[in-house]
Amino acid sequence: MFSLALATLSDLRHNQIMNSGGETAWITERAQALGFSLCGVAPLERFPEYAEFETWLERGYGGAMGYLANPKRRDPAQVLAGARSVIVCALKYNTAHPYSGEAAATGKGGGPHGWISRYAWGRDYHEVLWERLNALAETLKERFPEPHESRAYADTGPIAERLFAKYAGLGWLGKNTLLLNAEMGSWFFLGVILTTLEFSPSLARHEMPPADLCGKCRRCLDACPTGALVEPYVMDARRCISYLTIELRGSVPEEFREAIGENVYGCDICQEVCPYNRKAPVTRVPDFEPRQFSSEESLFQPRLEWLAGMSEEEFREKFRGSAMKRTKWRGLVRNACIALGNAKLERGSAEQLRIVQLLGRLAQSSEIVIAESARWALGRISLEAERQDLTGGSGALPRGPLN
Ligand code: SF4
Ligand code: SF4
Repeated sequence: MFSLALATLSDLRHNQIMNSGGETAWITERAQALGFSLCGVAPLERFPEYAEFETWLERGYGGAMGYLANPKRRDPAQVLAGARSVIVCALKYNTAHPYSGEAAATGKGGGPHGWISRYAWGRDYHEVLWERLNALAETLKERFPEPHESRAYADTGPIAERLFAKYAGLGWLGKNTLLLNAEMGSWFFLGVILTTLEFSPSLARHEMPPADLCGKCRRCLDACPTGALVEPYVMDARRCISYLTIELRGSVPEEFREAIGENVYGCDICQEVCPYNRKAPVTRVPDFEPRQFSSEESLFQPRLEWLAGMSEEEFREKFRGSAMKRTKWRGLVRNACIALGNAKLERGSAEQLRIVQLLGRLAQSSEIVIAESARWALGRISLEAERQDLTGGSGALPRGPLN
């Protein structure tokens, strides 16, 4: 009897037939020991949302992100032949620093400041996630010695991480299109391990994914400055500040420049206004604290003049090991020019004169995108100066028959 049981177990393993729920719980524990806040196992299935994704692409909402059309994105079995399960891990990155709205109110000195999306303040999250995901994949090798293959992805492969996270029971997809967890909010990175091992999914066949708790709330839709959330649960990436400041090469369409405000890399607004992030827990991973280069320069509310005046060489040096490399030097300077054009500079102040000089120099750049953005910013600064002339510098138009 005993030997039969052993043989059966061995056959099961050899054929990579489903490991027990106990193994899934073990994986979750290992993931927690590695610092992940959430972990679950999703089956490898064609979820109904894939059809919605097709429609989304057909509407052109993906903009220039051609890689999203990769058919592997809709069929993960093509990503890793023989894959049976997806282990999904979430690592929170929220730090104790204030949100952009609160931070703007406190006002830092040294000229106008920009906003970098919270996730990009520290060390490149791809690296932080990879280290942990690969460590988890290593423990799988030790625990399951039968031949198998596992591959880790940290926002790097043709994988719809959010979808797998939903079906692994980690949360629901909110109206802002992000994965939300009732206790943790949405400030987390998602990473996955595709494996040829088959584990019991975290949700049993009859269990539904976590309920959508957005209810009647629509704060994210109402707060989005560019109207990128075109309807609940649907984002037109072409209008999203994250796309415009990071993914888009070339010039930012003029219609969005004012709405971009102070954002120089990404945008946190639809997460900051979400009630589930009101008491979002803070990470213990020091890697996600903002990089501090000197007493003046940091990635938390960076000085716009510092960013706009940065040389390509300095960019390479400062952003080595940072997710911000993605926007490239010319993209970051372009964004800083736009944010400077949106800064309300006092007419005739030393600050205004300094910035006009800087933008004047950038307007001569051989980089067309930089030169054009700098010229736009100069135009905005002179419009603002005219407005201040009209209002006597108070910022409010004098009362008249029309107001
Ligand atoms: Fe809108 Fe910003 Fe959210 Fe993009 S990230 S959808 S621009 S609020
Ligand atoms: Fe959902 Fe409201 Fe959060 Fe938007 S702000 S994701 S509607 S809970």
